[in-house]
Amino acid sequence: MGKVLVTGGTGYIGSHTVVELMQTGLEPVIVDNLSNSLMEVLDGICEITGKQPLFYEVDLKDVTKLKRIFQENQFESVIHFAAYKAVGESVEKPLLYYENNLVSLINLLKLMSEFRVNSLVFSSSCTVYGQPEELPVTENAPVVKAMSPYGNTKQIAEEIITDAVQAKMIEQAVLLRYFNPIGAHPSAKIGELPLNVPNNLVPFITQTAIGLREELKIFGDDYNTPDGSCIRDYINVVDLAKAHIAAVKRMKESAIPVEVFNVGTGNGVSVFEVVNAFQRVSGQDLNYSIVGRRSGDVEKVYADTNKANELLGWKAEKSLDETILSAWEWEKYIRLKDQNY
Ligand code: UDP
Repeated sequence: MGKVLVTGGTGYIGSHTVVELMQTGLEPVIVDNLSNSLMEVLDGICEITGKQPLFYEVDLKDVTKLKRIFQENQFESVIHFAAYKAVGESVEKPLLYYENNLVSLINLLKLMSEFRVNSLVFSSSCTVYGQPEELPVTENAPVVKAMSPYGNTKQIAEEIITDAVQAKMIEQAVLLRYFNPIGAHPSAKIGELPLNVPNNLVPFITQTAIGLREELKIFGDDYNTPDGSCIRDYINVVDLAKAHIAAVKRMKESAIPVEVFNVGTGNGVSVFEVVNAFQRVSGQDLNYSIVGRRSGDVEKVYADTNKANELLGWKAEKSLDETILSAWEWEKYIRLKDQNY
């Protein structure tokens, strides 16, 4: 059974991917410094799969400790999630973001090269496209200057990985450009767990509905879109997790050095549509108000998913309603279970 190193494996997307790996018969090994996740996530994974994955509480910036993990385990590939991801914070603390996100990646690539671990799946983002000229956006759209240090770390990381493959330090990489991951595992045993005030739309909605926040602020209703609010491509986190399994398989079957895939649904959905879907599936009224635009937001972006559909053999399956309901079920579960969790 192949061992797969999952960095950031107790995080939101990482934990769902760990579950999918285990259910596919692969053996994930988690490395996470718990800077933005909790150890209890491992219990959720265990409740779903019946098994506890191997877990190391290690910071990827600590190359000595990371090396020990490579010595103790023979990995067939690496899925690299671990990174800081708060856009606003990255503007305030750019060096923290560059250091954390890029030193981690460099350490990982050095060790992959030393231990001959040849394939990497990397968490990138549709933020690399900025506001695309053509929609749906394909992987061939130009990468534009990043709007934030966070976005820039994703662009630079894509380049670092591409250079490392070109130099044959590792053989292959798949760069997955995520659109907007939302929702939770259908079991409601794992999900998104913002440790601070959420920046993202759906956790803000569910926290407002459960009474943790007073109201949702909708950032702008004067965009050039049918209802005036921004349009995004909201992808179910379990569907997204499955794209990583497909990417690991893809590298076993193809010899292409670096491939880039959009991971989205292909559907553009507005903020108001998300709010309405939430009210519909939860039966709850949501307090919200409309405020000014948030700086740095693009007006609309959604994926052309043809490349992922054809080459990864992967397709988003879950509906928006089902996905938003899963986020709501998770919110209720986690608040009932333990106020401090
Ligand atoms: N949004 C909002 N209120 C919030 C959070 C987000 O109106 O409290 C909007 C935001 O302006 C954007 C969409 O919801 O149009 C998705 O935002 P999110 O931060 O979840 O993702 P991203 O900005 O990365 O696409």
